[in-house]
Amino acid sequence: MQNVLEIVTWYKNNLRDLPWRSTNDPYKIWLSEIILQQTQVNQGLKYYYAFVEQYPDIQSLANADEQEVLKLWQGLGYYSRARNLLKTAVLVTDKHQGIFPNTMEEILKLPGIGQYTASAILSFAYNLPYPALDGNVFRVISRLYNIHLPINEQKNRAAFLDILNEMIQGVDPAQFNNAMMELGAMVCKPDNPKCDICPVSAYCQSKALGNTSQLPVKAAKAAKKKRYFNFFYIKYNDGFYLIKRSESDIWQNLYQLPLIETAHDLDIKDEFSDLKDVLTQLQEVNDLLKKEILVSAASELRYLNSIKHLLTHQEINAKFFEVNCNEQPTFKLENCIWVNADSRQNYPLPILIEKFLLSL
Ligand code: SF4
Repeated sequence: MQNVLEIVTWYKNNLRDLPWRSTNDPYKIWLSEIILQQTQVNQGLKYYYAFVEQYPDIQSLANADEQEVLKLWQGLGYYSRARNLLKTAVLVTDKHQGIFPNTMEEILKLPGIGQYTASAILSFAYNLPYPALDGNVFRVISRLYNIHLPINEQKNRAAFLDILNEMIQGVDPAQFNNAMMELGAMVCKPDNPKCDICPVSAYCQSKALGNTSQLPVKAAKAAKKKRYFNFFYIKYNDGFYLIKRSESDIWQNLYQLPLIETAHDLDIKDEFSDLKDVLTQLQEVNDLLKKEILVSAASELRYLNSIKHLLTHQEINAKFFEVNCNEQPTFKLENCIWVNADSRQNYPLPILIEKFLLSL
């Protein structure tokens, strides 16, 4: 296909020098692909370097402590990626003698690896002809062939893959996949695609029809679920409590301030709301934490601030309260640890909590 040759030639002349492009080590390619999911290249680069420095090969990652991995991952979000990274490293080390499998079937059995990541590993590390279909490539194909199928509906993947499977024949698979992704990232951008410098503008149906701003098509998403988190910064001198989130939910195995989740937003009248007034509103929550706060509170309670934090499928409405204790409290809560500004650095925190602590 002539348009494929034009794209690959353009790529060879314009590629960005990224560290995972100059290696065929499946470990480093896998690592980069997991980091780059939901993450911009510029932000991902520093995490990639940090991981490769701390864990230069899959065996060293397999031997790592989960808390250490989560700490290094802190700030990237979607922490299940980091937990799966560790699980996969252990599996590859134990079951595959430390060598990344080279078949689609085996790779898809590894935690956190879907069709796109598997194809990227198979093409970049083993040069096998699997097209890697990410958001950039969806956009290029939608426009090049004027396809109006919603790209966020799983059932439409096959139509895009059919086209890509034809395009990848007879060219270097790694170069082809890199070229398609680079074209989407640098030229065929979501807004204002740079059609005047595009190597395939002569073949592009969407450009000819003048409908590039309407493509790709995305189906409307379900509204985000709203949650109301009330965090308590329970402090005495320079110490305060953190609690490990152990339940299967967002931020699993990360540390946060003691939390009471409510079904509705609390009504806060002023900064020094009466402790009872706030706790009355927490009546629907009958948990140990509320009792502990009550006991510790000869103390003073102060409302500090609210932060709205958006995740892919959830809207977290967080309120932060300070509980100033008159003596060091002794909570009998599971997974509760007493830290200070220095020692808390050893624990992985959701970025929401990190930002709050940095704002104090
Ligand atoms: Fe994208 Fe424009 Fe190139 Fe078409 S001509 S592929 S819309 S950049």
